[in-house]
Amino acid sequence: MPRLDRLATLYLTSPLVRLFGPEPGVRVPILMYHSISHNLFGMSHPYYHINTLPSVFSEQMRCLRNAGYRTTGLAEAWAGLSAGADLSKVVVLTFGNGYRDFYTDAMDVLTQCGFSATLFLVTSRIRQTSLRVAGADYLTWRDVRQLQHAGIQFGSHTVTHPVMSQLDDASARREIEDSWLRLRTETSAAIPAFCYPNGGVADISAREPAILRALGFDTALTATTGHASVSAWHSSPDSPFLVPRFGYNGNPALFKQIVTGILRARLAMRLDR
Ligand SMILES: [Zn+2]
Repeated sequence: MPRLDRLATLYLTSPLVRLFGPEPGVRVPILMYHSISHNLFGMSHPYYHINTLPSVFSEQMRCLRNAGYRTTGLAEAWAGLSAGADLSKVVVLTFGNGYRDFYTDAMDVLTQCGFSATLFLVTSRIRQTSLRVAGADYLTWRDVRQLQHAGIQFGSHTVTHPVMSQLDDASARREIEDSWLRLRTETSAAIPAFCYPNGGVADISAREPAILRALGFDTALTATTGHASVSAWHSSPDSPFLVPRFGYNGNPALFKQIVTGILRARLAMRLDR
């Protein structure tokens, strides 16, 4: 039985209301994916699904490409936003947890479309041989390095995927720092981006932005719904560490509207009347 508060979040407050954001061009949709597969991870209600069907993912990527979109990494998106560049045809693609189906099912589609992505890894689940948890296989470190050579970027998603707000201070710091150090060692790259496990408002405490800032991270992504924009990014010292995204696994029409801002325009017109 789905929790009523989550259903209320889905149907009453998100994502429609929060689509009222800055105009296209000065905001970037950061799209949130996890597994590209048929694996429902035991969840029956669509709100809980973290899988996107390979056919749906392929259609979404081709839709973006045919509409003239390009992808950037997070650092390039922030740089573009700060410089006032026209980002009306830019999206950032992110994938959580480090499922191996990114390598086997998503990467070909991205390559065909000329797209890149950022993967947020739960470092204890990335091994020398692929780990299987809840019927899902995880990337190996060898996969990670191969993807890195193909232009994929990586970010920290903790060591064990805990709800950060439920941890004591020492554990919170360890989850962030240990995953960050492991990723830096395995990829020989700076790891400037973090992504909160689960990523809802209640899953994050006020302490995490300070930990991330002290370690030298540039940004952190949540699962709250909205565009990344200059105004949102600079609204407070913590706002670079509370960046919203869009997660939509199905409904191709709504996907197009989220990316293009058509839905936002339609709702605005309706309110004007
Ligand atoms: Zn996750």
